[in-house]
Amino acid sequence: MKILLLGKNGQVGWELQRALAPLGELIALDRNAADGLCGDLTNLAGLAATIQQLKPDVIVNAAAHTAVDKAESELGLANTINALAPEVLAKEAKACGAWLVHYSTDYVFDGSGEQPWQETDATGPLGVYGASKLRGEQLIAQSGCQHMIFRTSWVYGAKGNNFAKTMLRLAKERDSLNVINDQIGAPTGADLLADVIAHAIRFAQHNPQVSGLYHLAAAGETSWFEYARFVLAFAEQAGVVLKVSPDAVNPIPTSQFPTPAKRPHNSRLSMAKLENTFGLTMPHWQMGVVRMLNEIAI
Ligand code: NDP
Repeated sequence: MKILLLGKNGQVGWELQRALAPLGELIALDRNAADGLCGDLTNLAGLAATIQQLKPDVIVNAAAHTAVDKAESELGLANTINALAPEVLAKEAKACGAWLVHYSTDYVFDGSGEQPWQETDATGPLGVYGASKLRGEQLIAQSGCQHMIFRTSWVYGAKGNNFAKTMLRLAKERDSLNVINDQIGAPTGADLLADVIAHAIRFAQHNPQVSGLYHLAAAGETSWFEYARFVLAFAEQAGVVLKVSPDAVNPIPTSQFPTPAKRPHNSRLSMAKLENTFGLTMPHWQMGVVRMLNEIAI
């Protein structure tokens, strides 16, 4: 199996390089690809030519415009990277008979209610990022290519920056810490996202009927406030000296932390379709976070 991976150095792309390697020949690109290949999602003609040249069996797109607040003032760029580029990938996948595997987001929803979102629920993005990702989903589905789109939430990786690292740094530096307690979701490891996709790709080779849209996140739910407290409690137990202890973290509503882009209050995703289709059981979010905290050597 020949697999083309785009966005190889993002949180998820990095883990995909590991998880996809055993499946076959892996060609992993970032925006600065060499050897006449193009991995830049703003270069639509270059992307198409690269797929025509490589003729992969599977295209995995981990690249995206993920700067949610910046997207509000970069509408054209967000739309190109998150919608028009996936459309090109889909059309080329259709032309060469490849599968397209793509990530989307809980931000396609308006965040209302308290129930986990199903794949069939009405969408209603609150900002440019969510709207561009939703358009990308729609264009892929319209192309008629074999595809798997996985909407996920609250992604963290051990490599690079993440929420837990930021909370640890702030709790060491500051005298107080305010964290939002009215956005609910499930922190989801990039490693889990990569491992599930590797499994799904193998499964899809013999089960073409699985083409479609899935929700994919860790099990359980929490708020950013409880997530921060969990991380700080783990650090304290490990002997890290903090100026702000877990019990001293202040819960605040989203309204007290204004950002250019609105974020959904309810980011719960139902995993029923994913688990039933692929025969998987999602681990609880705390399991992945503890693993990441150990990896970053707290
Ligand atoms: P990252 O921001 O870590 O990685 C995105 C990657 O896309 C980066 O490597 C970035 O490269 C690359 N990229 C950006 N613009 C271009 C471009 N023009 N051409 C090529 N590559 C480009 O994101 P994640 O790994 O966290 O996200 C993976 C997927 O999951 C995305 O589809 C995202 O929308 C989705 N998702 C993410 C969530 C999150 O909390 N992070 C939540 C829900 C869904 P560079 O570093 O050079 O800019």
